[in-house]
Amino acid sequence: MTFAQILGQERVLGSLVSALASGQLHHAYLFGGPEGVGKELTARTLAQAANCERGEADACGECGPCRRIAGRNHPDVLLVLPEAELIARGWAGRADFSGKPSREIKIAQIRHLQERLSLKALEARRKMAIIGCAEAMNVQAQNALLKTLEEPPDATTLVLVSSAPHALLPTIRSRCLKLAFAPLPLGLVAERVARERGADPATARLCAALAGGSLGQALALDPKALARRQEMLARIEGLAPGDARAALLLAEDLATDRASAEAHLDLLEAWYRDLATLASGGSPEGLINCDLGELAAASAARHGAPEALRRIELCRSARAKLRFNASHRLQTEQLLLRFLFPDV
Ligand SMILES: [Zn+2]
Repeated sequence: MTFAQILGQERVLGSLVSALASGQLHHAYLFGGPEGVGKELTARTLAQAANCERGEADACGECGPCRRIAGRNHPDVLLVLPEAELIARGWAGRADFSGKPSREIKIAQIRHLQERLSLKALEARRKMAIIGCAEAMNVQAQNALLKTLEEPPDATTLVLVSSAPHALLPTIRSRCLKLAFAPLPLGLVAERVARERGADPATARLCAALAGGSLGQALALDPKALARRQEMLARIEGLAPGDARAALLLAEDLATDRASAEAHLDLLEAWYRDLATLASGGSPEGLINCDLGELAAASAARHGAPEALRRIELCRSARAKLRFNASHRLQTEQLLLRFLFPDV
């Protein structure tokens, strides 16, 4: 990976390349911005560029250090993540941790990192530590890290990567050079989704719009759920007031598993956002479901903006409950029933 292969972040990359070229890399960065726009990728590429054998203020992606960093087996480039995230990425198994894998970055992980950073570099010109999901550091871990930020080891750069940088302690934020990553342009995300997932242009555009400019999220969307979007929305809009039986049958179809339930919730929220826009006199051009204009216009006229907004809130609340491991089937059933019975 080279900087040129990272999409849509020219401003951030420009400042990193000039720091590399002048040999003035900062000792601590905070990469903030939405999920899936290339923050961690940039951190890894920065580690490569700082240690690339070609030394041209960029990574070549081919030399020994570049390859070892890409393969996560460079002894002086360290990555810290919550245990649960390591498992989610398939980089660790449940058996690697005692007890339930933690969603937090714990103080023991930061202490271990500090021990490693205090040793002389084995081969690197510049040691790098990347803390992914940095907002997952608990308070003790953040306070422990503060010491390293105040007295940084020689020839070392720390990169804190976070999609919620405001959740970090102000003392941490103030000691890092903050670089803000922007959401990616929808056209660019759609183009990549079309190419990598073989999606047709309309589906690719829909993925990009649903993911709000996050390439990572756009690529993670379930194309099966998207392909059935039109049918699903027509069924939901066709539910007769008070027809609980039809709602429960539909819930059964939508929530075959957790991923499917989540994908459908995202679709539904986007749908009611479109209806709220139309019902408040917005233009159909910016709609996420721009290909379903007729159904959207008819449904917006029938529901009106307050009902569309009520349904958006219900979708968000169901999504939040799913995140805390609520039953996907039950949440989908309750959601559809609440659509039909506003007073429940
Ligand atoms: Zn290289």
